[in-house]
Amino acid sequence: MPELPEVEITRQGLLKKIKHQVCTGAMVRETRFRKTIPSDLGILLSGQRLLDIKRRGKYLIWCFERSFLVSHLGMSGVLRVFPKEEPVRKHDHVDIEFGDLVVRYHDPRRFGFIIWLDKTEIPEDLPEIKRLGVEPFSVEFNAQYLEESLRKITRSIKEVLLSGHVVVGVGNIYCSESLFEAGINPFISANKLSLKQLEKLVQAIRTILSLSLQEGGSTLKDFVSAEGKEGYFTLNAKVYARSGKPCLRCGKTIEKKMQNGRASYYCPHCQRV
Ligand SMILES: [Zn+2]
Repeated sequence: MPELPEVEITRQGLLKKIKHQVCTGAMVRETRFRKTIPSDLGILLSGQRLLDIKRRGKYLIWCFERSFLVSHLGMSGVLRVFPKEEPVRKHDHVDIEFGDLVVRYHDPRRFGFIIWLDKTEIPEDLPEIKRLGVEPFSVEFNAQYLEESLRKITRSIKEVLLSGHVVVGVGNIYCSESLFEAGINPFISANKLSLKQLEKLVQAIRTILSLSLQEGGSTLKDFVSAEGKEGYFTLNAKVYARSGKPCLRCGKTIEKKMQNGRASYYCPHCQRV
């Protein structure tokens, strides 16, 4: 599943190729997604310059001169730039054309979407964007903010991070890795963490996401080119999917437990509290 680093790298890749380019049309081969993609997208966007693409969580906000697109990659989406003559493959559902280039939206499972908004609408006011937590690299994300946000929350820290309502971008892999890095047990109630632990957690989340962004940065060229790799980044995980293997820090066995339907990997020794 594309996570925040893939979405951020996608954003950077798209901007590198199509920022300030004028949209010359669109081809919508399939409209049925998590939200319906307008079939007349080409008419809605034609002649408008792409001014910028912003990111909030895993949503991309495309700012055109007189309208916006909001896109999400869902479970299996990929947005890449191709030369216009690149043959269309299965699951290539939408092309947004910029002269000789097309941004191609490929999504086998169709849980993602692209929606169009009139210039009078504010993308940040969409309910799904409004309820997002803060950005992990923003100044708002710090130990004091976490302490304040988690004060009354008795659910586990793992569930709270995964929800995205306090901080965005900490998907299942990043969550397991960040909690290991910070030495925090995934099952501990969110309101039981000390300020010191929260400081470590903030740092750990930034470190883990940065590593993934760095790795993604090095594959940026591939990500937006015709020869690009299809897969998402593979973080060099220290605990995730390593159950039964020795902890890289203490040598004890990494455990896996299901938590609210999601697998949690952790070292019972290094992450006692
Ligand atoms: Zn350990």
